Amino acid sequence: MTGQGGSHDVTTTARVLVGAATVTLPSGAVRERYRREHLGELSALPSPDQVHYAVGALMTSWALRRAVSKETDMTSTSVKAGKPLLCRLNLHHRYRKQHNPAGEVYRRCTKCGKDDPGDPPRGEPRHPLPFGGA
Ligand SMILES: [Zn+2]
Repeated sequence: MTGQGGSHDVTTTARVLVGAATVTLPSGAVRERYRREHLGELSALPSPDQVHYAVGALMTSWALRRAVSKETDMTSTSVKAGKPLLCRLNLHHRYRKQHNPAGEVYRRCTKCGKDDPGDPPRGEPRHPLPFGGA
């Protein structure tokens, strides 16, 4: 029981685990920084605790990766704007017949709320609606 203070040698197991924990990180500089931090923490721990710490680092590595790569990786967090991609690109809307307070029929996309600009405004539709109805 004399493990007070000083730095310990980092065990191979802990070193490998921390290496695995940081390998998920995106760029070389960021990865190196976290790897050094982990190794610094490890050297302050007695060997049995090193593995424990390294396992914890490995367990949280995915969350860390997501936090670190948030700005660089747009694909994983992309669609929070609400509108479907096809709506945003104006390629396809899911129009449904709606009635305004005056009882007139118009069409509105159920996905993004956009009014159908292709239909003649209010009253008599020039084209029959594709989904029949009344
Ligand atoms: Zn739409």
